Amino acid sequence: MAITKVWLDESSDECISCGACESVCSDVFAVNDKMSVNEGADFNAFEAEIKDAASSCPAGVIKYE
Ligand code: SF4
Repeated sequence: MAITKVWLDESSDECISCGACESVCSDVFAVNDKMSVNEGADFNAFEAEIKDAASSCPAGVIKYE
């Protein structure tokens, strides 16, 4: 299923600004103070990277659907 939404969910834990997600896919993720999703990013082109970033995020705060 195609990814239509990617977001930072800090309801149970917080982004620790480690930069791992940006390292995996700087086309989608940017980390300044905390992670943000680049506006207009092509989620379909980077589906594998988004899943990879979400599963390797140490805080578990990257969500997608
Ligand atoms: S990998 Fe997770 S904890 Fe690290 S900067 Fe990205 S969202 Fe934050």
